[in-house]
Amino acid sequence: MVSKPRGTRDFDVYEMEKRRLVQAKMEDTFKRYGYKEIATPTIEHLELFELKSGDVIIDELYSFKDKGDRDLALRPELTAPVMRFYTEKLQMETKPLKFYYFGSCFRYDRPQEGRYREFWQMGCELIGPSNPEAIAELIALAYFSIKNTGLQDIRLCIGNLNLLKKSYLINDLPPASQAAIFRLLDKNDIDGMEQLLEQNHIESDNIIFFKEFLTSRSIDDIRSHFKRSTVAQDDIDHFDKILEFLDLFGVPTKDVIKMNIARGLDYYTGVVFEIEAPILGAEKQLCGGGSYTLVPLLGGREIPTAGFAIGFDRVMMALEKENYEFPFTSELIYVTSLDQDLDREVIKLVSQLRHVGFMVDFDLMNRTISKSLKYADKIGAQKAIILGRNEWDQGNVVVKDMQSGEQQEVKKEALESFLA
Ligand code: AMP
Repeated sequence: MVSKPRGTRDFDVYEMEKRRLVQAKMEDTFKRYGYKEIATPTIEHLELFELKSGDVIIDELYSFKDKGDRDLALRPELTAPVMRFYTEKLQMETKPLKFYYFGSCFRYDRPQEGRYREFWQMGCELIGPSNPEAIAELIALAYFSIKNTGLQDIRLCIGNLNLLKKSYLINDLPPASQAAIFRLLDKNDIDGMEQLLEQNHIESDNIIFFKEFLTSRSIDDIRSHFKRSTVAQDDIDHFDKILEFLDLFGVPTKDVIKMNIARGLDYYTGVVFEIEAPILGAEKQLCGGGSYTLVPLLGGREIPTAGFAIGFDRVMMALEKENYEFPFTSELIYVTSLDQDLDREVIKLVSQLRHVGFMVDFDLMNRTISKSLKYADKIGAQKAIILGRNEWDQGNVVVKDMQSGEQQEVKKEALESFLA
């Protein structure tokens, strides 16, 4: 027997129904914010990710040579591909551009609950504006696209890399140490960061000062940290406005500031944010995003860009853990007959109903009527149409409501409007 590759999953019909429901809800929210769908290939030139991704992603790349000796990779994420698409084809389009995508991603990671080698990301990219209302709208979209799926307990955290970089200490360190510190911050490894700072001969008073900055919980805390310098004034005002506008967009902003979000990727610039579902434990991060600079690295003209990616599988897991009741609405109609000699009439009726748009299935196994109805129940049919010789000759069929069990004779000519 051949089994599926490690870290991949099969989805049965019930899981797919749930996934499509949640996907549709998210897409609905994206569209309400004026975002439109785009798609890029599953494979890209390896170079795209080698140049543009963080170290972790590069370690986990699925890459290979094709028959023409080209180096290709399965995409580990979709921001770089979307920016490649923009740079190649869309630079002249009128701004702002608001794109959303949904696609599979591949990372050669150690598989565990919530961490797969094939997983799905749903995300948005905003190209053009970088003013506070644009960034606030993007964060609000990330928040509500998850919230509107029905998930109850989610936490939004917002940081700011400009402020982190300009904060007293980071600003004075060599770039390699800065990058290492960002990685440690991202892992919340404050002790490791402290050790590294000590190795860089940073005085302990300064380390304490920096650690205090990391615990800033409000704009006032941040302002007081920078009170000795004006280097960050514009960034603080920009950040302050984003929080104010987020409030206007309806997002709860109490305790959202978290200065140690670093996101680990070199191309992130200003505001960065994450959304978590605490119920998921270790793999609780649902979404990551922020402002970044990628287009110039890909050879395009400088332009503000920001976006986020939601781990779709984790949203599904969190909904399951919260015992979310998926609102299935089956419109399936099942046709069966009491008499073998009505088989042709069954096929004709099924075709006629399908033709006008109903979702219709019928007995393909020559089952007895009771077994046939049991099957109809199992596949979630909403109604069963039963053809019997006597009723048929009088111009009627029996329609059974599968939920209530109620049966009713309906005139053949009135059937379509009755079902509708
Ligand atoms: P990233 O592109 O690393 O910022 O990831 C964005 C989101 O994708 C994360 O917040 C996770 O929810 C999800 N994600 C990342 N890696 C995996 C994985 N290996 N399996 C499942 N979901 C993942």
